[in-house]
Amino acid sequence: MNAAIDIQNTTRRFGHITALQDINLTVPTGCVFALFGPNGAGKTTLLRLIATLSKPSSGDIWVNGINTRRNPHEIRKNIGFISHQTMLYDDLTARENLAFYGRMYGLQNLNIRIEEILLTVGLKNRQRDRIHKFSRGMKQRLAIARAILHHPSTLLLDEPFTGLDTSAQSVLSSIITGLKAEGRTIFLVTHDLARGLALADRFGILFQGQLVHEASSKDIGESELQTLYETKTTL
Ligand code: ATP
Repeated sequence: MNAAIDIQNTTRRFGHITALQDINLTVPTGCVFALFGPNGAGKTTLLRLIATLSKPSSGDIWVNGINTRRNPHEIRKNIGFISHQTMLYDDLTARENLAFYGRMYGLQNLNIRIEEILLTVGLKNRQRDRIHKFSRGMKQRLAIARAILHHPSTLLLDEPFTGLDTSAQSVLSSIITGLKAEGRTIFLVTHDLARGLALADRFGILFQGQLVHEASSKDIGESELQTLYETKTTL
């Protein structure tokens, strides 16, 4: 199996808090993986480790075969990350924000790509506006554009639907299915069990830093997942 994300025996501590405890998880290339779990379960911590923004206390993570400790820069070139922080510059326009990231990634034909992506996320008519006055959902649309601008092979999404209106939610869902069709890998953290289940090939449940369940999404329905989630996240 070709693994896009391979997490082996990974623990992350913050002082006396063990945010993640001995996680083992493999996400195959081209898979949409949904990670569920209550507040404080360790989901964002795990995403940050995969994104090379933080290092495991022990264990190892490989992204497309590259170890996150050894070559984080190489990994960052090939991932897109939508996190709680939009990682956008308020003083720049929507277009300037994308141009900044596009140059950072050394993208060819940048203007064409920016046009295309602004259309996809529905911000073409606001491209010349500085984003400090953008609504939360508009910023989230731009954060999505920034995350996929450079055609990343792996997309890491931390509650990406938050703040989006229904039209932007369906845009994002179709972006995810489109990227999957291109063979890209998507790791999606969400509290929305139904949406996660609809999008994902596989799912996991994280509880108190431990991966308490991991399975294919094919053989489980929404209400069954709800019951499983409640069982697995109750002491
Ligand atoms: P939520 O659903 O609320 O976003 P989460 O599952 O993403 O939660 P994390 O943000 O990963 O949870 O936090 C897991 C645990 O690690 C929590 O107990 C949190 O307080 C702790 N933690 C996370 N980051 C840090 C940090 N930088 N310093 C100290 N503790 C941290």
